[in-house]
Amino acid sequence: MSVEKIDTLVVGAGQAGIAMSEHLTSNGVPHLVLERKRIAERWRSERWDSLVANGPAWHDRFPNMEFKCDPDAFPGKESVADYFVAYAEMIKAPVRTGVEVKRAHRTKGGAGFQIETSDSLIEADRIVAATGPFQKPVFPNIIPDDARIPQIHSNAYHNPAQLPDGAVLVIGSGASGVQIADELQRSGRKAYLSVGPHHRPPRSYRGRDYCWWLGVLGKWDIQAMEPGLEHIAISVSGAYGGYSVDFRRLAEQGITLVGMTAAYQDGILRFASDLAKNIAEGDANYLSVLEGADAFAERHGLDLPEEQEAHMLAPDPDCLTNPILEMDLAQEGIAAIIWATGYTVDYSWLEVDTFDDNGRPRHTRGVSEEPGIYFLGLPWLSRRGSSFIWGVWHDARFIADQIAIQRSYLNYHNKVQARSQKPSSR
Ligand SMILES: Cc1cc2nc3c(=O)[nH]c(=O)nc-3n(C[C@H](O)[C@H](O)[C@H](O)COP(=O)(O)OP(=O)(O)OC[C@H]3O[C@@H](n4cnc5c(N)ncnc54)[C@H](O)[C@@H]3O)c2cc1C
Repeated sequence: MSVEKIDTLVVGAGQAGIAMSEHLTSNGVPHLVLERKRIAERWRSERWDSLVANGPAWHDRFPNMEFKCDPDAFPGKESVADYFVAYAEMIKAPVRTGVEVKRAHRTKGGAGFQIETSDSLIEADRIVAATGPFQKPVFPNIIPDDARIPQIHSNAYHNPAQLPDGAVLVIGSGASGVQIADELQRSGRKAYLSVGPHHRPPRSYRGRDYCWWLGVLGKWDIQAMEPGLEHIAISVSGAYGGYSVDFRRLAEQGITLVGMTAAYQDGILRFASDLAKNIAEGDANYLSVLEGADAFAERHGLDLPEEQEAHMLAPDPDCLTNPILEMDLAQEGIAAIIWATGYTVDYSWLEVDTFDDNGRPRHTRGVSEEPGIYFLGLPWLSRRGSSFIWGVWHDARFIADQIAIQRSYLNYHNKVQARSQKPSSR
C-alpha cells in the first residue's frame, strides 16, 4: 500500500478542525483534515432536533463570516452545521470526509507519525487531534440495566415522540438538561428535573445578551476556574427566542425539581437533600452577573435601560420547600430517564505518551508533552471559551503559531545542513 506524506494532519472536521485549517493555511503549513463522517457531524446527528445555538448568531461564529440570519437570533443546529460547511468551502479547507483515523503512532525510529485510516496509510510530521470536547457520553452507574426502565444519554435524545408514553426524569441541570426537560413539559409530558450545581447567567440584561456581558466582564477569558468549579454546568437557553433559566419559573410551569440523583434500589430512586443549596448557589451566580454588569455600565457610563425587576426572584415553589427525597419510579409513572450528565474524551486511536491515568491529555494550551502532538477544542484548553465556537478560533491560531515556530527551527536546520553538504567551489 502506498503511503501518503503530509506535514500536519488534523483529525476531525467540526468547528475545531475547520478553525485549525484556516490558521494552518495562513501560516503556510501544508495540511489535511480527515473527518470520519461529515463536516460538523455532531451538530447534525448528536443533538436533539429542536436545538438552537446557546449564543446569538452575532456571537457564536468565527470572526470572518456571519450567519445569514438576524444577528440576534439563535441559529438552529442544522444552520450551525451548514455554517461550518460554508466556512470550509470559503477557505478551501483540504477536508476529506468519510475517512476515519483508526490508529496513530510514532514512526519507528523517526520523528513523525504513522496513521492508519479507514482507507489508507499516512505519514505526518504532526497531528492535531480535533475530535471534540464532548466525545463519549458519560453517566453514573446508579440505575442498573435490569431496572427495566429506558435510560438514554442526552446525545441520543431527539424529540419527545421517541420516548415511551409517560413521565420523564431528566438528570442534569446544564443547558442540555434544562432545555430537554422544558421541551418535554411543553409537549404535555410530566417532567422531573434533577438539579445539581450550576451557573445561570441571565439570558439578557439591560438590553444586552449574556454572551456580551460575559465578554466585556472578561469571564469568557478566565484561564482557570476556581478549583472545584471547572465542570460546573452552565444553564442557558436560546430556545423559544431565548430566556433566562430560572428554576423557580420552570417549576411554576409544571416541572418538578429534585436534588442530585444519588442512589437506586428496588424501583426507588433517592435524591440528595441539596436542591435548595444548588438553587441558592445558582441564584448567587445569577445575581453576581447582574451586579458585575451594573458596575461595568456605571464605570463606562453606558446608557443602558435599568432593569430592577431582573433582581427579584420568584417565590420558592413547593418542590423546593418540600423536596422529594425518594421516588417510586413505577408509582410516579416514570417511563424514561434522560441523563444530561456530560461527556468524556476518547483518544484510544492516538497511541502516544501524553495521557494521564484517566485518559485525559497532558498539554499546555493544546501543545502536548509528546512533541508533534496537539489538542484542540477541549474545555478549558486555554480559557473558559475554549470549547465554544468563538473560543476555539483563538486556540487554533495559537496552535498554528506553535507549529509554524517548530517548522521554522527545522527549516533553519535543513538549510544549514544543505549548505554544509554543498561541495566547496574552491
Ligand atoms: C448540546 C450541545 C449544545 C452546544 N451548543 C453550543 C453553542 O450554542 N455554542 C457554542 O459555542 N458551543 C456549543 N456547544 C459546544 C461546542 O461548540 C460543540 O460541542 C462543538 O461540537 C465542538 O466542536 P469540535 O469541532 O471541537 O468537536 P466536534 O463537533 O465533536 O467535532 C469533532 C469531529 O471529529 C470527528 N472525529 C472523531 N473521531 C474521529 C476519528 N478517529 N477520525 C476522523 N474523524 C473523527 C467527529 O466525527 C466530529 O465531526 C454545544 C455542545 C453541546 C453538547
